[in-house]
Amino acid sequence: MLSNRQLFLQNLAQTTDFPLLIEIERAEGVYMYAPDGKRYTDLISGIGVSNVGHRHPRVIEAIHAQTDRYLHLMVYGEYVQSPQTQLAAALVQTLPPNLDNVYLVNSGSEAVEGAIKLAKRYTGRRRFLSAVNAYHGSSHGALSAGGNEIFKQNYRPLLPEMYNIRFGEMADLEQISTETAAVILETVQGEAGVRVASAEYMQALRERCTRTGTLLILDEIQAGFGRTGKFWGFEHYGIAPDILVCAKGMGGGMPIGAFISSQKIMGSFKNNPLLGHITTFGGHPVSAAASLATLQVLQNENLVADVERKANLFKEYLQHSAIHQIRNKGLMMAVEMQSFEVLKAVIDRAIELGVITDWFLFCDNSMRIAPPLTITDEQIRESCEVILQAIREICE
Ligand code: PMP
Repeated sequence: MLSNRQLFLQNLAQTTDFPLLIEIERAEGVYMYAPDGKRYTDLISGIGVSNVGHRHPRVIEAIHAQTDRYLHLMVYGEYVQSPQTQLAAALVQTLPPNLDNVYLVNSGSEAVEGAIKLAKRYTGRRRFLSAVNAYHGSSHGALSAGGNEIFKQNYRPLLPEMYNIRFGEMADLEQISTETAAVILETVQGEAGVRVASAEYMQALRERCTRTGTLLILDEIQAGFGRTGKFWGFEHYGIAPDILVCAKGMGGGMPIGAFISSQKIMGSFKNNPLLGHITTFGGHPVSAAASLATLQVLQNENLVADVERKANLFKEYLQHSAIHQIRNKGLMMAVEMQSFEVLKAVIDRAIELGVITDWFLFCDNSMRIAPPLTITDEQIRESCEVILQAIREICE
């Protein structure tokens, strides 16, 4: 009989040249366990998904309660379903008044697709700006808005009139004009290797968008749900987007995403419903119930307020001459080393020692650290000790 690892290589489409190839049997909190009982500390949370840890009891409880009621009933938006209405109402409570209308979808990429379509409908314009090295997803629209040519080149023609500006570069904001439908940016760039723009830049961006009637779409798929130390990343900058997109951490481990805007902007979809956005499973009741529980856990367990302190603990412990720089916004962290080769050796060794990190799509000399926000001080100390041991073995 073939092992699961052999079946993985034989029958599952491979999505990376370097699969971690760790078989996991179960997961709980920050830990994941292999079939042989080996325990791993998960410092990447499925790329910023398990913000409340794996299988948080409140999330599991909400999932069970919903599976006892109903699963899928009808294309999203047809029937009144309390998981969806309760979730939307709770989300709106976390947001500024202009973001009061929620469109629930399945994933980050789908949320980005919805946001792009909505911006076209509302403004009647067709030109979009996004950032160099942005990652907004893998479907054609989201890919078009991406900012890495290597990822885009094999799929052209993509959406026309999508142009890149440099993230954080004031001078490039001049390209935002009355022809621009929307600017789409990550609040903190994730796959670029955790790049943070200044508050002045974010405010100037907001101001220029308002002045030219351009919609500002902020992608908080990685930065949202507490990851950066505020519930939403944009709260760091005293600004708000016209359309917010989120997913990942939103579902506490279940698939769900959303694009969120005002009644007025979202209303432009209503003129002809068949040409709006349609999604069969978007806002699935089980995912929506899990998402509401996740939101409540983040709010009730004081997790978000503790993010910055925990991030500082990582920075305090991770000191070694082979670490060139640590970039972060809260627990969205990138530990820069000399090269991909060194980094890969360190990551592989740390995995052998039981701590899982990885790299970024567009930044291969930096280690991704994005643990569950529930991680304890002791777990931070222990996992940093393992990473340092791996660094010492490889680099000294
Ligand atoms: N935007 C950002 C900032 C992301 O990090 C990701 C996923 N890495 C996406 C969009 C796409 O989300 P999904 O994989 O759920 O389609």
